[in-house]
Amino acid sequence: MLNPMRRIAWLLGGLSLLALPVSAAGLMELLDSMKPAAPERLQRQLPAVPLSPGRGKNWVGVRMPKEGTSILVLAGHADSQRMYGSGTPGWAVDVGGAAPMQSGMTDELYWNLRTARAVVAEGKKQGLDISFYDPGVRTIRNVQDPRTNWSVGQKHAAQGGYVVEIHYDAYSPHGIGAGVIPAVAFGFSVLDEALAKEFGAYPYDYRGMLGAPRRGVSMLEIGMLEGSLEQGLRDPRRRKATLDTIAKRVVSALREGLEQGTSLKAICPPTTGIAAYCR
Ligand SMILES: [Zn+2]
Repeated sequence: MLNPMRRIAWLLGGLSLLALPVSAAGLMELLDSMKPAAPERLQRQLPAVPLSPGRGKNWVGVRMPKEGTSILVLAGHADSQRMYGSGTPGWAVDVGGAAPMQSGMTDELYWNLRTARAVVAEGKKQGLDISFYDPGVRTIRNVQDPRTNWSVGQKHAAQGGYVVEIHYDAYSPHGIGAGVIPAVAFGFSVLDEALAKEFGAYPYDYRGMLGAPRRGVSMLEIGMLEGSLEQGLRDPRRRKATLDTIAKRVVSALREGLEQGTSLKAICPPTTGIAAYCR
């Protein structure tokens, strides 16, 4: 006979199993999480979405990535071409009548890939433990597929790592502009705090909380794909310099975040009652 507490725990465990989506990917995930050698996983904790949508930066990033975990960089829309949510075609193609940078993908993805690679190269040069994941397959309709950006990103975030997905926003009047949309699922990160200082910030509940933040993946909007930014990227003579400048801004913010986080940890004794700030 189980004692009442254990019975409740057992019952809750059973309920959470029932709540899992019945799919092969879900089952794989479940089996994977039961492996004894699997690294420790954090639980997703999503704060409530405010009744009226948040404006500006309504969050504070204080969580440090777990030591020994790399920074994972993703290219937004890398697995969702030729379907809904493929990213912006950019002003040059959509309004200006230019040919896409590469057929089969939006200009946004083309620049997301180039930028993500540039960020990782610059980060490595500056001594960061940073890597890039590209699903390779450009159309994956099932978001639970283990190869998607968000599946790989969520796994990394659940292990205490930091994940950022690079984006460019739509041209005006459709886009909003540069800024970080912070990962929500495992707490707000010091790295998002630092990116917000450099690029600006969106509310955490932007558009009712997007899929990536819900899975622990931060989104960084570099800027709207129009005007001098887009021209700088498209002009072959200025392309490298434009990408380098962006990569340096991202990397210096990430380094700043790691340093700030380390000093925050040092001044934060475990008895302050704000344990979340000290983790
Ligand atoms: Zn995007």
